[in-house]
Amino acid sequence: MAEKRDYYEVLEVPKTASAEEIKKAYRKKAIQYHPDKNPGDKAAEEKFKEAAEAYEVLSDPQKRQRYDQFGHAGMNGMGGFSGGGMSMEDIFQHFGDIFQGAGIDLEDLGSFFGGGGRSRGGQRVRRGSDMRIKVKLTLEEIAKGCEKKVKVHKLVECKDCHGTGSKDGATETCPTCKGAGRVVRQQRGIFGMMQVQTECTTCHGEGKIVKNQCPKCGGEGVVRDDEIITITIPAGVSGGMQLTVPGKGNAAPHCGVPGDLLVLIEEEENPNFIRQDSDLIYNLLLDVPTAILGGQVQIPTLTGDVKITITPGTQPGKVLRMRGKGLPRIDQYGRNYGVGDLLINVGVYIPENLNKDEKKLIEQLQDSPNIAPGSSQKKSFFQNLFGCR
Ligand SMILES: [Zn+2]
Ligand SMILES: [Zn+2]
Repeated sequence: MAEKRDYYEVLEVPKTASAEEIKKAYRKKAIQYHPDKNPGDKAAEEKFKEAAEAYEVLSDPQKRQRYDQFGHAGMNGMGGFSGGGMSMEDIFQHFGDIFQGAGIDLEDLGSFFGGGGRSRGGQRVRRGSDMRIKVKLTLEEIAKGCEKKVKVHKLVECKDCHGTGSKDGATETCPTCKGAGRVVRQQRGIFGMMQVQTECTTCHGEGKIVKNQCPKCGGEGVVRDDEIITITIPAGVSGGMQLTVPGKGNAAPHCGVPGDLLVLIEEEENPNFIRQDSDLIYNLLLDVPTAILGGQVQIPTLTGDVKITITPGTQPGKVLRMRGKGLPRIDQYGRNYGVGDLLINVGVYIPENLNKDEKKLIEQLQDSPNIAPGSSQKKSFFQNLFGCR
């Protein structure tokens, strides 16, 4: 592993930076290297992680003091990100956390999502951040569709103040922007000095501030808590798909619009089947006598075991198809159309350890006229060889 960079250096802040400055610096980095803005960019992902780790430490007064005193060496055994080897998964577990803590909402990424601000009488309504979770499903669950209850630790509305952030419901006009939600500042551009409108940082564009802060949520109107969320999973989903549950992400400060819950589907491995889109593949191994003489064998399906008939003279490599015994097909809107098949790949088990008597039986067969390849029923042998069913 490469040597760790100094956390202050990562966030590009001086060692004397205030908590507010650190927050701001992290916010900038997190937006810049946000994975939604840099899909598939490994370098950006590393920077995103690095910034999250730095912020994790520097935003916590206790950890920061320890870091100032002992450097990276002082961080060992402090848990969290500081143990190193933080994965993207870890960050997303803490995703809402970090972003909310940094005062970031997805409207900061507005131009990338084509979102733009939502207005409430000119002022902006804040939006809670999206949350990502993973849900693991068995093939049986995927076949039928299911409802999954998941516990999500996230920002929820503060019950004490009903999300207003105010002890008594009183608000006052933001002194910085005089209620406009935006401030105008001068900026030097390529055409000389320009006036640029930016969101007011005092009120986050809301135009008003809470007068007497609710002691439970510190005026934010949101607190961190567990919530049980029921997710309806349509039949036929597959690993890597992402479902959106609107409005079930992090709650937004001051009764704003909650973020979405993004559910990444993962598939549990199945001992019997390999999935191929909506088809299932089952590898069936026949014993030699059944392959030669035919018979009935039991095979599993997602809806229980069934018996199938093996015709005499079944060759290894033959594929039997059970129509409609696969998984439902699903389109991009989550609608089902048709069902896949169960494909049975037939193999024949050649015994490896035979006793004397068994060997004798096989030896007797060896000289028999119909045993050598191509000796009889040439036509059907070639039919099988070229895959005719
Ligand atoms: Zn409150
Ligand atoms: Zn303001």
